[in-house]
Amino acid sequence: MTDVTGLPSIRWSLRGLDDEGHEVWLIRGVSRKLYRCPGCHGEIEIGAEHTIVQFVMRLGGTEHHHWHRRCAEELLTPTLRQLRRVPAGDSTQSKLEARGRKPAGKRRRAR
Ligand SMILES: [Zn+2]
Repeated sequence: MTDVTGLPSIRWSLRGLDDEGHEVWLIRGVSRKLYRCPGCHGEIEIGAEHTIVQFVMRLGGTEHHHWHRRCAEELLTPTLRQLRRVPAGDSTQSKLEARGRKPAGKRRRAR
């Protein structure tokens, strides 16, 4: 398995698949408002480095959540298959939303 220690970072995001075949992208973010982490239900403070978890659904559509880095690492990452790092530039919100407009089979491969 790829070593993903310390990721996502400014340069690298992560992409994997959950058990229903949805793409899960983990992207480094800095919070601009208060978020609640779905992992521990605790708050993520403004200005905190954290992990944005963006789902690109198998049949199209996207949704995202904000997680503490450690919660994502401990609770979410271990459940994902085919986890690999991808350049952060491929995981911008606009690119992922565009990706979510097509069903998975018709998507072009991310380079
Ligand atoms: Zn948390």
